[in-house]
Amino acid sequence: MSTTEQTPAIQLPALQPPRRYLFGPGPSMVHPRVYEALSKPIVGHLDPYFIQVMGDVQQLLKIAYGTEDGATLVISGTGSAGMEAAVANFVEPGAKFAVFANGYFSDRLTEMAKRQGANVVRFEKLWGETFTDEEAGEFIQREKPKVVGYVHAETSTGALQSGRAICTAAHEAGALVIGDCVTSLGGVPVEFDRTGIDVAYSCTQKGLSCPPGLSPMAMSQRAMESLRARTTPSRSWYLDLKLIHDYSTVSHRYHHTAPISMFYALREALSVVADEGIENRWERHRRCNKAFVKGVEAMGLRMHVPEQHRIATLNTVCVPEGVDEAKVRKHLIDGPGIEIAGGFGPLAGKVFRIGVMGPLATEENVQFFLKEFKKALSAAGYSS
Ligand SMILES: *Cc1c(COP(=O)(O)O)cnc(C)c1O
Repeated sequence: MSTTEQTPAIQLPALQPPRRYLFGPGPSMVHPRVYEALSKPIVGHLDPYFIQVMGDVQQLLKIAYGTEDGATLVISGTGSAGMEAAVANFVEPGAKFAVFANGYFSDRLTEMAKRQGANVVRFEKLWGETFTDEEAGEFIQREKPKVVGYVHAETSTGALQSGRAICTAAHEAGALVIGDCVTSLGGVPVEFDRTGIDVAYSCTQKGLSCPPGLSPMAMSQRAMESLRARTTPSRSWYLDLKLIHDYSTVSHRYHHTAPISMFYALREALSVVADEGIENRWERHRRCNKAFVKGVEAMGLRMHVPEQHRIATLNTVCVPEGVDEAKVRKHLIDGPGIEIAGGFGPLAGKVFRIGVMGPLATEENVQFFLKEFKKALSAAGYSS
């Protein structure tokens, strides 16, 4: 064999991703200002400029979360990393963790807690149902857990779970509350302080119109005290919130290399939210949700979740009798390049999951979507 022989060069065309309208549950469309932020030159991760960017993100997150005295920070990882950080730091091995289980993400929360050695107790309901204030209170009083977990906006079902009664009952029982706000942050009201959540985590790629990659978190004073009082270290070193809090807000000493460009992107995405005004943003999503529901109902379709429990940014529409939902989705992606998602688990084949969030949430885009959706449904044999 000749020593001059070289590995053949791999010839790839330039990156040219197809243009999609992301009407699914996430990732959602990225705001043009965020794309621009992503292209800015990076600095070192301990550069004073980057420390300032991290500080800006923490400030802006307070507005998005609705917290004044809560601590905010960012985990380098997607929403699931925030979920795992919440569980690994606040649910100690052997501790009782009470989970409101009504969808896929509460199951993931359960699985993570089991792996941390928690004693998990679950209040189960069908996918798409929610828990009343009385039910929530009774469950917590009966179980007397150390920590309670619930999913605010359950992306697998389209149901929004109010957290007020859960938090009140948990605090009366001396428990902390972990709230999954992955789909709700930036799209529908989270109101961290007013609701009484102790530990919330989210992501960048759903309500915040940013690419996936970071998990913004908020922690109440109560949560911070419990973190400080912990005598055994969290089983996860990378997600150790004591270390991350110290690194990102106090000492700025190296813990891990923060993904600089993603922090730029998140800072810009949160500035877009602050410029619009968080209340205006909720209102815009509410308006679009109304127009969306009106449109699909006019086609003779039904929503999976009752009106008062719907997530304004993520709709679950029942697949009509005799229609193959995969055909509808294929038609949408092959034709106009629209991405939506189907259901999974108990809702497989039964619902479409359609997100109307961020830059896509305008009346015009809703009408555009409805027109294409109607065409795709008829192509799959549906007639209203
Ligand atoms: C998307 C999602 C997650 C997981 O977030 P990733 O960014 O995919 O890791 C967790 N909980 C809910 C409710 C979600 O919608």
